[in-house]
This record gives sequence, structure tokens and C-alpha cells, in this order.
Amino acid sequence: MREVRVRFAPSPTGALHIGGVRTALYNYLLARKHGGTMILRIEDTDQTRYVPGAEEYILESLAWAGIQIDEGVSKGGPHAPYRQSERKEIYKKYAQKLIDEGKAYYAFDTEQELEAMRERLKNAGSSDQQYSSSTRTSMSNSLTLSDSEVKQKIAAGTPYVIRLKVPANEEVRLQDLIRGEVVVNSSQVDDKVLMKSDGMPTYHLANVVDDYLMKISHVIRGEEWLPSAPLHVLLYKFFGWEKEMPQFAHLPLLLKADGNGKLSKRDADKAGFPIFPLNWTDPKSKEFSTGFRENGYLPEALLNFLAFLGWNPGTEQEIFSMKDLTAAFSLERIGKAGAKFDIHKAQWYNQQYLRAKSDEELARYLLTSLEKEKIQCTPEKAAKICSVMKERITFPKDFWEQGKFFFQAPVVFDEQVVAKKWNEDVVRFLSAFASELKALTQVDAASAKASVDKTSQVTSIPSGKVMQALRVAITGGASGPDLMATIEIIGKDEAINRITFALENIKVKVA
Ligand code: GLU
Repeated sequence: MREVRVRFAPSPTGALHIGGVRTALYNYLLARKHGGTMILRIEDTDQTRYVPGAEEYILESLAWAGIQIDEGVSKGGPHAPYRQSERKEIYKKYAQKLIDEGKAYYAFDTEQELEAMRERLKNAGSSDQQYSSSTRTSMSNSLTLSDSEVKQKIAAGTPYVIRLKVPANEEVRLQDLIRGEVVVNSSQVDDKVLMKSDGMPTYHLANVVDDYLMKISHVIRGEEWLPSAPLHVLLYKFFGWEKEMPQFAHLPLLLKADGNGKLSKRDADKAGFPIFPLNWTDPKSKEFSTGFRENGYLPEALLNFLAFLGWNPGTEQEIFSMKDLTAAFSLERIGKAGAKFDIHKAQWYNQQYLRAKSDEELARYLLTSLEKEKIQCTPEKAAKICSVMKERITFPKDFWEQGKFFFQAPVVFDEQVVAKKWNEDVVRFLSAFASELKALTQVDAASAKASVDKTSQVTSIPSGKVMQALRVAITGGASGPDLMATIEIIGKDEAINRITFALENIKVKVA
């Protein structure tokens, strides 16, 4: 197998979409698996779509996700520069080569002339209104004008583009590693612009030239680029680079959770989940979008989730560290069908990865929240709280948000439980239970449980009938972590105080 050199080649046109992170991940996994090289190339030749800050955002997103770049922007390497806007002269040279060999031509048509052509074809009933082998002969270009006219126009500074002279009616074939054989008739490919009038190359030219020069072995990218692939194959052929042509792998689309259509930012916004890895404020519109990072997703959980959007290991195993992914990954196991993006699955992964952490690690999340709240807590106590809560939480912030009662006695009580469960028996039970606790020197989960059992015996009230009320008294809420462990953590005095406060403040409904 040829040396694996892959590239992630985003355009800095805004925040990186989560699908772009998946593309980067698949490239990275292939590189790592084969001891290859992961390249980051910034494709910024479309100046009209350039967004300041987007490149930095891409770099920060990849760094956060743990996708390391071996060569490219921010790293350097033997094929620098890796930012296409800095490679203008290179593309010019290659465009010129095509012109010299009669494989590309200058076109001087103005916007109005192009519009008139399309109008003309439309009126003539033609379904195809492209600039192509059938129309180029009636346009203003170096194929229809004389050499001296062309020279004159160029000397006079008339704006021009360089177009590829796509042959009529030729079969263009490519072997996509995911899609299989793709065959397109060249008549369906128009004479694409290679160099724009601003002297910048188009995506197509720059992409192919760079993939060749950077010795890219595999082009792994989103399915939206599949229609461009035949044109790229033609370019490789025209340049005489067929032997060096990379292998193509076009990744399946990311679909909405119900499988109905492509996942869009609008859908994500509507459903209230992020679609960008990090927070992002659009510099023009000032529109703010939240990121997976700031929403509390762990990068390793997100990557595990993304890896499964299109790929699967062929086994039941779902939890894969980056190392596991690297070992298991192969392009052959990527499917053609669109991958449903189910945010609940991403949350499930986050839960799994959080649970796998030690209590001490989790305690740091809680301590960070507590610091913001200016609440003191020892690392030991925080670790204990996390240990009883970790089965219930999805995001690091949940330790605080769902565990406030460990630090603040409840002043409001779950209304439903109060309405349904708070009765004379509860009052009797809780009063007796508080006395039981008072008699103990110290309360832990086991002794709290023993006190519950004893109270139940003494009062002849089955504990099952009053447990929810006890929970409401202790935490304010209807559900939560193990109640006896909770009592142990808040301690004897606090537990007694809370029960007393609840007894004084919750009115028994008289039936
Ligand atoms: N610059 C293209 C993009 O923004 C890259 C497509 C490719 O990988 O060839 O997605």
C-alpha cells in the first residue's frame, strides 16, 4: 500500500460543522492506523466567503477533539505553505500549463453575456444551459477569438477566467472506496472555471493541484463533493497524474434523527442541541451558536459518537477509545447510507464516559461549579457526592445542578409528592425517624437505613409508604440519588434540621 497521506481541507467560511469534525476524524484514524500523515490544509481561495476567525476556530476545534495534525497550517512541513491563498503562483503555473497544452482556455464573457447564453438556451428548449463543448464555440474565449485578439484583451486588462476544456461524450470513471464504481459522461460536466478573474484558483484546481503536490493518498470527504469528483479525475488525467491520483472515499451524509433529510443547523437549533464543536459568534451577523464543548460534551465521547456515524466495527461493542478506534477503523466498514444524527446517542456516550471516570476526577467538575457559587467543599466530600450521583448525570454541570441540595437545604418541596404523599403517617414517621437519628452519634448510610427500619417497626408504618416524603424533606425533589447515602453526606444534624423544617412547613392535607 502506498504511504498514507491524508488531508483535512476545510474552507474558513464560518464555524466548523460537526460533520466536518467527523471528516477530520476519519482522515485522522486512517492516518494513525497506517502510520501515515495527517495534513491540515486551509482552502481559502474564495475570498467572498472568507470569515475572519474561522481558521483559528478550526484549529481550536481539532485541538479540543484531540485530532492531531502532523503537517499543515499551524504545523508547517515539506509542502508549505498549507494555506491556499498563499499558493496563488503555484496554481497559476499549472493553469498556464493546461492552456499551453490546449486543455484549458481563456474566457472573456461578461456576466450579461453568460446570462444571455443561458436565456438563449432556455428559450430554445435546451435542458442544459452550461458552458460546455456545445456552447463554448459561440462565446467570447480563446477558442473563438484570434490569438492577437486574445493577447490584446489580456494586455488591455479585460477581466477573464480560465476554463477547463472538457471533452464531449467521454466516459469518466472513478473507483470510490465507499460508493464503488462511479461513471459519469463528460458531457454532464461543464467547462468549469479553474482560475477566477481575481487571479485566484477555484476550489477544483487548487484542490487537485495540492492533493497531487502534497502526495495525498486518500481523499476522504463528505458526499457533497461526489459530484465534483469526475471533474477532478479529468484534471488528474489532463495533468498526466493518473498514477498519483488519490483514492476517493466519499462519506455518507449526516441525516436528521428521523432519517428525513440532511441535518441542518436550523434543525439542531430547533431541537436545542449544538451543531458546532465550540461556541461561535458569527463576526458579521453576530449570531451566537453554542458548542458541544460548552454544553459539557467530553471530546472523547463526542468522537466515539461521531465515529459511529457512518462506520461500524461489525461487532456489538460501542465504547471505543481513540486507540480502539484506530485499531478497528477501516474505510471498508463505512456504509453508503446516510447516518442518522441522534443527539440522545451523543448524550448516552457522554454518560458512559463520565461514569468511567474516577470519583476524584469527577469531583473536579463539581468543585469548579462550587467555586463559581462561592461554596466551600473538600475534595473528599465532592468525590463522595459524585460517586452517588454519577449514574444519573449526563453533563459535568449536572453534578451541581442536580445536586444543589447537598449544599443548600430545600425551601420548596415537590408539589406533586406533597399533594399525594404527605399525610399523618408521614408526619408520625418522620418525627420518630428524626428522634432515632438524634440518638445516634454519627450517621452513615447503613445506620440511616437501620433507623428507617427501626422507625418502621416502632410506628408500624411500612417505610415504602413514606420514603418519597422523606426524600422530599431531605432534598426537596421527587427523585435523586440513593437517599441513605445522601443523608450520610449531608450529616446527622443537617438531616434532622431538614426533617424538622419540612414538618414545620409542609401542611398535611386533611382528606
Ligand atoms: N474545502 C472543501 C471543504 O470545505 C474541501 C473538500 C475536499 O475535501 O476536497 O469542504
